[in-house]
Amino acid sequence: MCSNCVMDTTDSLIRFDDKGVCDHCLTFYQHTLPNWHTDQSGAIQLERLVESIRSDGRGKDFDCIIGMSGGIDSSYLTYLAKEEMGLRPLVFHVDAGWNSQIAVNNIERLIDGLGLDLFTEVIDWPEMRDLQLAFFKSGVSHIDTPQDHAFFATMYRFATQHNVKYILTGGNLSTECIRNPVEWMYYQSDSRQLLDIHRRFGTQPLETFPVTSILWHKIWLPYFRRIKVARPLDIVPYIKQEAKQLLMDRFGWQPYPQKHFESRFTKFYESYWLPKRFGYDVRRVQYSSLILTGQMTREEALELLKKPSYDEATIGQESEFVANKLGITVDELSSYMALPHKTYRDYKNQRQLYDFGTRIMRAMGMEIGGKR
Ligand SMILES: [Zn+2]
Repeated sequence: MCSNCVMDTTDSLIRFDDKGVCDHCLTFYQHTLPNWHTDQSGAIQLERLVESIRSDGRGKDFDCIIGMSGGIDSSYLTYLAKEEMGLRPLVFHVDAGWNSQIAVNNIERLIDGLGLDLFTEVIDWPEMRDLQLAFFKSGVSHIDTPQDHAFFATMYRFATQHNVKYILTGGNLSTECIRNPVEWMYYQSDSRQLLDIHRRFGTQPLETFPVTSILWHKIWLPYFRRIKVARPLDIVPYIKQEAKQLLMDRFGWQPYPQKHFESRFTKFYESYWLPKRFGYDVRRVQYSSLILTGQMTREEALELLKKPSYDEATIGQESEFVANKLGITVDELSSYMALPHKTYRDYKNQRQLYDFGTRIMRAMGMEIGGKR
């Protein structure tokens, strides 16, 4: 294990220097931190961002769009956009069938409290279910792809349909400066992978499921349609505890026991499926990010990691819920747990395109942080 954070060799590509500090930490100190400004220069960037969003949005019903999951990052972003930045966001939510009750409440409270309108896009459940089962059957570790892909694809589609030039995302360095290794969670936006896995293991055509492709959203949208993605949480001081407290006090927002638990599937997947079947514990990534940004001590993280990532008392019910929802038996769900391990390389993919894009973005200084 790294001597500075809590990443360890369950990330098989991890490298340590002679002091036992891992490459995630070194990337953070050498590359991310010097390029990350939440002080005065961040405030100037924020002001510029607000100005261009407003001027691009003049005369339109909305000046930007925000995808809202009910989790802390997107909730705080929505508050920030409306109250602090004075924007007129179109807030939309993608219902892929797995919303927790807390997520539904949180979204309602925030929307009501801020006086915003909410657009909800419901993904066709039979298709969602079929695609989800295909990912289970494929044996890969990134089985949360269908949900994530649907969120992203819908977001880009909304922006084009409503002719909105700015997409604001809750992605942020403060809680995500270390990313899940690609080996753990392959790029969820890779449509070639998604469609290949569905072609092999799906049982019905995907007629309405939203599919995006990297060339469309990374090249066509930004350079031809001039639709930009901005991450405001990276240019303001964003402290998770403070954000949580503000949302609770002001909106009656309810916290989650762990990041991403606003979706019942993601909760099942990240707390149980992934560590149990592959040994990948996303808490290591999440806690390490908080350690690097001074929001948690390494001792606190080590203490939390002593406990299993899932609740042993309720995991039986959780599995039952997931199986029932997918229309399969608990035995069938368990049988997927025992399948041989596969990776994205076992299916068609666009990894080379992603690597190429990342190299260019980094060379141009357009991307800080280091997913690998
Ligand atoms: Zn480290």
